[in-house]
Amino acid sequence: MRTGFVAVAGRPNVGKSTLVNALVGEKIAIVSAVPHTTRRRIFGVANGDDWQLVLVDLPGFQRPIDALTQRMQRTVDSSFEDIDLVLLVVDCRARIGAGDRFIARRVFALGKPVVIVLNKIDRLAPAHVVSQMKAAATLGDFHALHPVSAKTRDGVGELRGDLVALLPEGPAHFPREVATDQPLAERIEEIVREKALHLTREEVPHALTVQIDEIEEGRVRALVLVETESQKGILVGKRGATIREIGSRARPEIEALVGRKVYLELVVKVRPRWRRDERTLERLNL
Ligand code: GDP
Repeated sequence: MRTGFVAVAGRPNVGKSTLVNALVGEKIAIVSAVPHTTRRRIFGVANGDDWQLVLVDLPGFQRPIDALTQRMQRTVDSSFEDIDLVLLVVDCRARIGAGDRFIARRVFALGKPVVIVLNKIDRLAPAHVVSQMKAAATLGDFHALHPVSAKTRDGVGELRGDLVALLPEGPAHFPREVATDQPLAERIEEIVREKALHLTREEVPHALTVQIDEIEEGRVRALVLVETESQKGILVGKRGATIREIGSRARPEIEALVGRKVYLELVVKVRPRWRRDERTLERLNL
């Protein structure tokens, strides 16, 4: 078995989530138990007969906006022991510039093998792909460079093969079969809750909870529960802008988790605390 943790790095919108979806494939690969070896966010798990790729994020790789973020970033940067290799994704349509170089410097500084992915080649003439490959090759001392289209999956098979070859041998980190729906639902609730808290900051107390109402093929309905009408107003936002934004931030991660496109419906409801407690007790069979 070849198995390991592959961190996915790159500027926003270069196609990281789409690429993870393409690598994971259609099959739902849900993680039933997160091993203690990693505390990072898992984007997806791709399984083959004799290999398993665990795709994880590389947090704090945005450009630091202020001194505090920079300090926090340093802490983050110093803990990458569990990662076996890094995928550095760049968008071949854009000029490879300062943003890519900034991320590349940090990625290469980790001292792990780096595979550069030049994504979105479906949008570029072949001659341009070659010149962009040359530009991408200057980003650092990479192990392999793959031009791919995460969208059409062109080149994704070759990329996957290369990643597997770079992984160490060992036992699989996760069970290979789909686990129950329970951890999946919990994981989705966690993602939605995180985005909601992030966007509303201190305005809505941490008492906010999320409950999955329905999961069907490609369709997820989640209830976002708050305690008062004013909290509901904040969460919904002007003409629904906030809840929409929560949805569009949560959806790519949910899609990466389940390995397919998802229609996500979020419903904000006011539910007083005692009723939630009742439901919790019910869940616990008390
Ligand atoms: P992330 O922010 O890096 O995770 O990027 P996303 O995966 O969310 O992709 C950003 C946008 O680029 C989305 O609109 C994708 O549909 C699009 N995209 C991703 N990969 C490709 C690709 O290979 N070709 C094309 N044409 N578009 C892509």
